[in-house]
Amino acid sequence: MIWNLGSINIDNFYEVPHLPAPGETLAAVSYGFGLGGKGANMSVAAARGAARVSHIGAIGADGRWTRDRLMEYGVDTPHIAQIEAPTGHANILIDPQGENSIVLFQGANVQLTEAIIGTALAEASHKDFLLMQNETNGQEYAAITAQSLGLRVVYAAAPFDSFAIERLLGRIDLLVLNEVEAAQLLEATGQSVEALGVADVIITLGAQGCRWVSNAGIKQFDAYHVEAVDTTGAGDTFTGYLVAGLDRGMDMAAAIDLALMAAALMVTRRGTADVIPDLKEIQDEFG
Ligand code: ATP
Repeated sequence: MIWNLGSINIDNFYEVPHLPAPGETLAAVSYGFGLGGKGANMSVAAARGAARVSHIGAIGADGRWTRDRLMEYGVDTPHIAQIEAPTGHANILIDPQGENSIVLFQGANVQLTEAIIGTALAEASHKDFLLMQNETNGQEYAAITAQSLGLRVVYAAAPFDSFAIERLLGRIDLLVLNEVEAAQLLEATGQSVEALGVADVIITLGAQGCRWVSNAGIKQFDAYHVEAVDTTGAGDTFTGYLVAGLDRGMDMAAAIDLALMAAALMVTRRGTADVIPDLKEIQDEFG
């Protein structure tokens, strides 16, 4: 089972004729909203990858529907607390060229308490995984608690925060980061990923696939070739599926292969959590 300490956002999309200038009031051409946040995306991906996943997070009264949506997608939600804070949200403006501008409000995502996290992890077993990203508070407490219970700790270092990652390094079994984050890590710590002391590190490389760095050396995996239309959520889909594979007993190479297929299919679709492919769709596409 996967315990995912993660963000839940309401993504508000506004199509605008151009990105607004300072002081300008602008009418949007269209509006839409959906479930977002790296945490929610990874929970959906892990559930679509047939793992049992319990999301640990916080929302406000305005975001009750996000919890219902996660439940519909097969995610366990008893540890998503409703608190006195607005649900995290992202207001995303998109101009006709596809350029965007985003205002993110973290809201309830950064008001998690040790009680919320501790109550959830008290139900975990030593065979379970703790998955975390960087859009909530409480990662260090969660990692310490999970480690003491014998869980394997997976950390997707996004959005990158050198302070957060340096505090977590000794507590992570598997680190997942993209190329930009790997470069930021090198700059912040002066250490290459091989020297971090993390048992397994996976660097995603977009259309180039990914690299797995472990005690056994460095292994490169090619991406599945697809016609990409929107890479939003590719990294989250990759990580959710990777941990789902590991949780279902796959070895790392097999779990990476599954994650590469899921992420490749994801980039052929527009959207985020709502369009993450399930196992059957992956099988139909890649056999
Ligand atoms: P994002 O922030 O867009 O969600 P990311 O920057 O975290 O993504 P990437 O390294 O860009 O992560 O992509 C994650 C994974 O998605 C890659 O390892 C790869 O498996 C898959 N992927 C991304 N782009 C493509 C592509 N054009 N074709 C096939 N697979 C892709």
